[in-house]
Amino acid sequence: MGQTASESGEQVLIIGGGPAGSTSAMHLLERGFAPLLVESDTFPRFHIGESLTTECVDALNRLGLQEQLIALRAPRKQGVRIFAKHPENSFFVGAGDAWQVERARFDLMMLETAVARGATRVHGKVTHLEHDGQHWHVTISLNDGGIDHATTRFVIDGSGQNRFSLRKGLLGEATEGGYSRQVAFFSQFENIASKPEDAFDTLIFHRECHEWAWMIPLSETVMSVGLVVPVTTFKENKQPPDVFFDTHLMEFSASLVGRLTGARRVGKVRTISNYSYRVETYAKNGLFCVGDSHAFIDPIFSFGVEFAVCEAAYAAEAIAACREASDTASWRRHADRYMQVTSQGQRVIEDLLDYFWRHPWGFANMAHVRHREEFLEIFAGRIYETQPGEGLKRMRATLQGATAKAVGCGR
Ligand SMILES: Cc1cc2nc3c(=O)[nH]c(=O)nc-3n(C[C@H](O)[C@H](O)[C@H](O)COP(=O)(O)OP(=O)(O)OC[C@H]3O[C@@H](n4cnc5c(N)ncnc54)[C@H](O)[C@@H]3O)c2cc1C
Repeated sequence: MGQTASESGEQVLIIGGGPAGSTSAMHLLERGFAPLLVESDTFPRFHIGESLTTECVDALNRLGLQEQLIALRAPRKQGVRIFAKHPENSFFVGAGDAWQVERARFDLMMLETAVARGATRVHGKVTHLEHDGQHWHVTISLNDGGIDHATTRFVIDGSGQNRFSLRKGLLGEATEGGYSRQVAFFSQFENIASKPEDAFDTLIFHRECHEWAWMIPLSETVMSVGLVVPVTTFKENKQPPDVFFDTHLMEFSASLVGRLTGARRVGKVRTISNYSYRVETYAKNGLFCVGDSHAFIDPIFSFGVEFAVCEAAYAAEAIAACREASDTASWRRHADRYMQVTSQGQRVIEDLLDYFWRHPWGFANMAHVRHREEFLEIFAGRIYETQPGEGLKRMRATLQGATAKAVGCGR
């Protein structure tokens, strides 16, 4: 494949142009590489995942994207408001500089910025990836019907829930996550009866483990609304997804129904199920998986885009370090460091979630009273290369003390 970007830089193949892929491209460009970004979809395209954390926005700002973010004219997120089954367990966690973004527009902005800064975009689908001991050989099925090939030392897999490398057997087996057997339904609504105190917050309504709903404002008039239930509940119900969604939302909880009464659904109902998993080894031989391509825990506290964006920076750092090293031991060390830092961040959120579902009262108390500052930091997404505070240690001790360290809600 001909090189058109940064002729002098070493080519890095990137699979996928979502937040993981475009952010990786921008970081690699800063380090003098020539990213070749292959995206199969035509942008703008719909994607779920609209609420960004403060750290995610800080990471984007560090890439110099402030103006592009402001130009999206998206709502500023003030915080996360949790409505529990028992009102005493409800609470609010403030956010710093954060946004609620319509992903079609956000992802397009990210991809266009990566290309404007020098990445080469290929309209096609990566279909084959193979390592010969030194290089990766890539086959791309182009959207115009052609086939192309590339040979590179470095590959970033940002293929999201498609999990390209995993499906191709390059990473071994995946472990099913604790929040796997649930299904999410979502759409957009207008005419929501927001309360003045809601501001532009993310609203989470929960009942039991695996049963929750969200509201995320995307503009003055449009709201993203979603519902999560166990897959079995949906299957037993035998209703079409749109009927199930509309009826179950209206029966969910008084605080949710109070806001939905009189609202109008203006989008189609989409679903995604069994989206929680993790892969043990997700960086090796110059291949780095970033974002959803190697792990996804659960969307309730909106960390997915942060993982993608922050991991991209660590992956670019590791690739740049490998470029300077000639021996395989150094490459392994840089890959291991990438996995160690990024999985440590994922573990913080996984433990936070497990504790949230198993000890809702204790969680609300910690978040609001006992370890307020620490929880603010975690909710903001300050989860990388930090020492665990007292609150996190306490949560972990409680989780480890429970009989059988079951994943997820511990059912
Ligand atoms: C119900 C639900 C709600 C969520 N809510 C939030 C939220 O509020 N906030 C938040 O931060 N996160 C949220 N998330 C998570 C968020 O959507 C993801 O974590 C995020 O999009 C991951 O980014 P990514 O770049 O890794 O993958 P993606 O955004 O999925 O991008 C992957 C891209 O790769 C392309 N691709 C795949 N395979 C190939 C191939 N072989 N060749 C070429 N291109 C390919 C795809 O077309 C796609 O564009 C939610 C997730 C779910 C399931």
